[in-house]
Amino acid sequence: MPLCAAAGAAVLLLKLALPLVPLPAECGVPADVEVAPVYRPVIERLVTRSPTLCAQMRRIAADDRVVLRIVVAHGLRPGACCRASTRFVRRGVRLEANVRLPASAELPELLAHELEHVVEQIEGLDLVRLSRVRDSGVYRIEGNRFETLRAQAAGRAARQELETIAFDARR
Ligand SMILES: [Zn+2]
Repeated sequence: MPLCAAAGAAVLLLKLALPLVPLPAECGVPADVEVAPVYRPVIERLVTRSPTLCAQMRRIAADDRVVLRIVVAHGLRPGACCRASTRFVRRGVRLEANVRLPASAELPELLAHELEHVVEQIEGLDLVRLSRVRDSGVYRIEGNRFETLRAQAAGRAARQELETIAFDARR
């Protein structure tokens, strides 16, 4: 039946266009976040579909002291430590967060992981002190590099949120 087919297509389009969880209209990438124009729509798409990414971005946007730069790059720099990283520079009250991510399928998870590190700094988490506290969820990797369980959890949450949407769109 042509009518049924048309109705089916409309339902599918609706599923593709809408996230499973309705997100606030405020979800998005603030204009003052520095990101290459070619990657802005990609990041925007992820932030408007993941409650975790949306909450993180809103938290960062609400803090005037934070300058967020996101660099998406193919391949790792020679000698790079990790799949992704965030370098923080404090200038007076200003906090510059330079997030570097790979252009890969891991982008959603790694973006949420790194943005959680930015939120940790907004909250004033003392990584040096906490890394010495047993079961604090903060670990020193080496030198001035740290890892936190909450960043890992945020990454997993965003990945699952976006996987659920992709799965639903395929049905
Ligand atoms: Zn990390």
